[in-house]
Amino acid sequence: MSTFTPFQSIAATRRLLRSKELSPIELIEGLEARIASVDPAIGAYIERNLETAKKEAAHADLSKPLGGIPIGIKDAISVKGQPCQSASRILDGYTAPYDATAVARLRASGAIPFGRMNMDEFAMGSSTENSAFHPTHNPWDLNRIPGGSSGGSAAAVAAGTALATLGSDTGGSIRQPAALCGCVGLKPTYGRVSRYGLVAFASSLDQIGPLTSTVEDSGIILNAMAGKDPHDSTSLELPDEDFTAEIGRDLKGLRIGVPKEYFVDGMEPGVRSSVDAAIKQLVSLGAEPVEISLPHTEYAVAVYYIIATAEASANLARFDGVRYGRRSPEAKDLLSLYEKTRAEGFGREVKRRIILGTYVLSSGYYDAYYLRAQKVRTLIRRDFDQAFTKVDAIVSPTSPETAFRLGEKTDDPLKMYLADIFTIATNLAGICGLSLPCGFSNRDGVDLPVGLQLLGRPFGESRLLRIGHAYEQSTEWHKRRPGQPGL
Ligand code: GLN
Repeated sequence: MSTFTPFQSIAATRRLLRSKELSPIELIEGLEARIASVDPAIGAYIERNLETAKKEAAHADLSKPLGGIPIGIKDAISVKGQPCQSASRILDGYTAPYDATAVARLRASGAIPFGRMNMDEFAMGSSTENSAFHPTHNPWDLNRIPGGSSGGSAAAVAAGTALATLGSDTGGSIRQPAALCGCVGLKPTYGRVSRYGLVAFASSLDQIGPLTSTVEDSGIILNAMAGKDPHDSTSLELPDEDFTAEIGRDLKGLRIGVPKEYFVDGMEPGVRSSVDAAIKQLVSLGAEPVEISLPHTEYAVAVYYIIATAEASANLARFDGVRYGRRSPEAKDLLSLYEKTRAEGFGREVKRRIILGTYVLSSGYYDAYYLRAQKVRTLIRRDFDQAFTKVDAIVSPTSPETAFRLGEKTDDPLKMYLADIFTIATNLAGICGLSLPCGFSNRDGVDLPVGLQLLGRPFGESRLLRIGHAYEQSTEWHKRRPGQPGL
């Protein structure tokens, strides 16, 4: 008899596997059945490919930290021998020739990478509606978006169709969908996890990180993935660390910064009240609140949309119909090959970003936009450096609102860009950030999850997870499950 039940944490599943109450194959079969019954309504997966996973499960090494644990992988992260398309038509027909380092390390820890989680094309978006495949639906209300760009990764964890998944975060793409779907998302410090094998969006901002149902699980996955990689010169050589080591310690003596720029008018009232209550809860656990200021916050979105698009325009130049994926059958010569392949292969938002990025890098505009944005980026980073001389962590909402309706913002890119107003500065500064459930907001009669964001100093993930875990375990939010029919 299989004891598979959806929504079990990695930590709990690991115990069941080791005590032989559950076999790795039963686990995958349980997931397979759950996906078959629930995912048609959600659309978190582009592909499931559980057959390979079953074969790997047959010889899982349960003595390893992630032995036999299946982990869903965002479609932007390479898994050897599997299609990897970043949810774009331009990568039709492309198969990854190698494992991303993050995936290879998960395997070395015994995990079984599987599936291709849906996302916004090239991770550009906040709703997963920019996927070239299909939109993903929020498990808490199927008429709503799951957030993005790692919307499939978040929706699967929230719907109990994956124990854990990998996402990537360039301006909020792990934390914002985690918040909107009511799960935990960790963006590691820039340089903590190798980007080798991640389809690049904006290379100075991108990081791979986990989406999980508990804070402890995100530490367990980070333990497996972190570390220097010779294939990524921006990954850093640091002493080995157990990111779960501080978990279980109390919060006495820790100072938590409350930045006034992150508590602005216009926020959804249910988000505001949930986050205010969460801060009180942290205080009741022994943390000391400190009012702080991050004065350059208001420039973060503008700076991000210059730097991220500039880097994207360079990174996406490689998709030209010659080396990877799609090649237009209509092309007559080299120039028309480029033009037609790119015209047919890229979606609207991706084209918009390439045009914006090319513009801000072009001669005459470079100094006015790109160079100036880099200078303001430095000011934003200094705000955080300053703040972290006074506090151990910073607390804020992850997103100013809960999940919006499918189609609500698709005609207004600026509104969509503002969905990341609280997450973007983290990537510009390169620091680490965690989102975890902190309550519900009633929107049009439906209770929707609210995310609490905790930000930590560079390479301060262990401290961040300690604070997140203490909060999580003192509340019941992470135990609530979506009650949509069929889930
Ligand atoms: N939503 C932001 C964007 O569209 C961030 C995306 C991300 O983090 N990949 O660029």
